[in-house]
Amino acid sequence: MMHTPESADRSWRATLSSVSPVKRSLEKASGRVLRETVTLPRDAPPFDRVMMDGYAFSSEDWRLGTRRFRVVRKQAAGERPGATLSPGECVEIMTGAELPDGANCVVPYEDVERQGDEVIPDLQTGPVPGDCIHRRGADALAGKTVLAPGVLLGPREIGVAASCGKATLSVSPRLKVTVAATGDELIEPGESIAAHQIYASNGYALEAALQRWGGATVQRRLYPDDAAALRTALERDLDESDVVVLSGGVSKGERDFVARELAALGVREIFHGVAQKPGKPLWFGVTPGGKPVFGLPGNPLSTLVCAHRYLIPALEVLRGRLALPREDLCLAEDISFEKPLVWFLPVKRIAGKDGSIFAAPRPPVNSGDYLSVIDSDGFLELPADRNQFASGSPYPFWSWW
Ligand code: AMP
Ligand code: MG
Repeated sequence: MMHTPESADRSWRATLSSVSPVKRSLEKASGRVLRETVTLPRDAPPFDRVMMDGYAFSSEDWRLGTRRFRVVRKQAAGERPGATLSPGECVEIMTGAELPDGANCVVPYEDVERQGDEVIPDLQTGPVPGDCIHRRGADALAGKTVLAPGVLLGPREIGVAASCGKATLSVSPRLKVTVAATGDELIEPGESIAAHQIYASNGYALEAALQRWGGATVQRRLYPDDAAALRTALERDLDESDVVVLSGGVSKGERDFVARELAALGVREIFHGVAQKPGKPLWFGVTPGGKPVFGLPGNPLSTLVCAHRYLIPALEVLRGRLALPREDLCLAEDISFEKPLVWFLPVKRIAGKDGSIFAAPRPPVNSGDYLSVIDSDGFLELPADRNQFASGSPYPFWSWW
């Protein structure tokens, strides 16, 4: 029985675990996956924090009839609060300062009249305790988990980690990925080419996909359809990399050596062939040390689809990322597909009349057509158990990023 995309997912997931974390300084941690729990070391905010420039005093004084307050000192952010205020006293205070004892509210400059060393609050209704104060612990209490392992560290997470006093974080290292294209017909872009040859594009497309994904450093290789040469090269690649991704040479042709040579190098085949279009000959295996190896079919669209549908999710598992949110998009028109295979249909996101987003099909002319994909944003995963797909029905959407 051939694998379905779902059963293929289960198989590769069962073989992979995340790479060992490393310590990185905060400025180098952005874009990485967090591998530790970050908890609040103090309440947030850690003290009663003044939120306006103005005067701090006790609303109780006001309630008891005080209307003029004596300014006993000035306190900027970063200055320790002084002695407890006595009745009738106030402190001229700045945003970010800790509220002194004896005060429970701040009235902004705009709402007072200053006369010498006194201020007269100009208020319609009296101040309420807590006015213009961000109370200690109002957001969260010390000990609360604010960042969990598996989150991708972006500006918000880095800011929160810094606010907790973290100078370094445990994160996943960048994955070293070798992208190797195979094929005797392939010529590097920029070199002269004969009529029967084609430019090697898959390695560049894969490298670009991984660069955009952001978690890998990529080395690109181009190999001939030569069993001995392939074995030597792959042995080195497996040694040097965390992940090896091949394109081409995994079908049934006489010169499709990839699966055989990987097996000879001790890479255990987990699956070969998935009931899908494009990308049916997809190959996946793991080295004895647990490194994943992907053999992507060489058709450029197959390579691109399999990279987004399988490779990048597998790399996310390797770097310890929690499950990614999946989006469904509704088909913009009816479409049919006769084969009993999951169909990865390139689609373009378009806005419907009410502004909601639909997926407009951009089917390739045939399995070798890789140009029509330019006018798409990703692909829908259409199930194998039916042939008709009605306009308006939702299906999982995979973005090209
Ligand atoms: P294969 O999977 O090796 O049988 O290749 C299938 C088709 O994809 C053939 O027409 C190849 O010429 C083409 N192909 C394979 N590798 C590449 C590549 N790196 N860039 C562009 N086309 C490729
Ligand atoms: Mg080939």
